[in-house]
Amino acid sequence: MTLALHGGTPVRTAPWPSWPPPLDRGQRKLVTEVLESGLWGATQGGAVVAQLVAEFARRAGVPHGVAVGNATLGLFAALRGLGVGEGDEVIVPAYTFVASATAVLLTGATPVIVDVDPADLHLSPEAVAAALTGRTAAVMPVHLAGSPADMDPLVALAARHGLLVVEDAAQAHGAAYRGRPVGGLGEAGVFSFQASKAMTAGEGGLIVCRDETAYAEIWSVCNVGRRPGGEWYGHPSVGWNLRLTELQAALVLPWLDRLDDEIDRRNAFCAALERELSGLPVSVVPRPPGTTRDSRHLLMLRVETVGSPVDREFLLAAMEAEGVPLDAGYPPLGTLAALTGEGARAEPCPAAEEASRTVVWVRQPMLMADPGAATQVAEALAKVLSH
Ligand SMILES: *Cc1c(COP(=O)(O)O)cnc(C)c1O
Repeated sequence: MTLALHGGTPVRTAPWPSWPPPLDRGQRKLVTEVLESGLWGATQGGAVVAQLVAEFARRAGVPHGVAVGNATLGLFAALRGLGVGEGDEVIVPAYTFVASATAVLLTGATPVIVDVDPADLHLSPEAVAAALTGRTAAVMPVHLAGSPADMDPLVALAARHGLLVVEDAAQAHGAAYRGRPVGGLGEAGVFSFQASKAMTAGEGGLIVCRDETAYAEIWSVCNVGRRPGGEWYGHPSVGWNLRLTELQAALVLPWLDRLDDEIDRRNAFCAALERELSGLPVSVVPRPPGTTRDSRHLLMLRVETVGSPVDREFLLAAMEAEGVPLDAGYPPLGTLAALTGEGARAEPCPAAEEASRTVVWVRQPMLMADPGAATQVAEALAKVLSH
């Protein structure tokens, strides 16, 4: 493969850091404690889940939170708990993971897929405004790649039209917008602990929210229709078991102690790479206005000389052969049969389509490498793009 593409020695032969990073002492200790206690489920006291929820809520600057089995179900539960359902429309960006939209489908509402900003690739407030109908109930900004969506115009628009704002913060643990942590900027925010995310228990998720009534409803959706503090076998509304386990919470709670260091590490790598890219036809996709803390879950690069999917496939194969595997990123959501076949409505999305042709991702494990290794990424890009 290597020789077939370019010949010569690959730019990098050493492995990149693996993900997740090695367990730390805090994780080993807490996981062992939970393991030996036999209290693995959140209904058996749930002390670690409770601590994790309290800590996420505190960091998001809101009073409430609910831990869930994953962020897809978290987005579903948040929307449903806030009253979104059949007959409603929820606006989602065209350049995001499919779950942002399939969570809407779970509520019975219709995902309305709108374009992203052509520069920063986050949900465009103009595109949201253009897609509003009498049925629009909520907007879901996605804090893509760890940089917050430009929330002020989105929240102002939502307030003018009486819409809910549910943040998809699955990729943005620790990120901040105009000095305010993500997750607490709308009615609810949802984080993921899936295996590829910046904090992980293999799977898992967590919802944070401000309003007490909304909290009770969301909690109920995740706890078989019970009410907080209510009767065990009283189920005043329909709900499901969407709970996170104590073992999962024990893996992620201690992670909070090192999250900021890891974000700094990824930012250092990204800064080094951005410097190294000068002179190449490759640029870092800029952050939306208002980003004050970019958690750098991914780094998105725009390759100017890539004009077609074939070009990009070639680029990705050649980069892999150089020992610097990059990722193709998302197709526009509106092209996915999983969504269009289920009645999702897609507005024209030229910016997401362009991104699906010209943008490639540097994945989180690579961003955890020593910043000196950024030179190799740039070197491999220079080598591959010169052919
Ligand atoms: C990972 C991800 C999700 C889904 O999270 P899960 O925990 O895997 O269900 C939703 N939205 C975005 C943007 C994601 O990256």
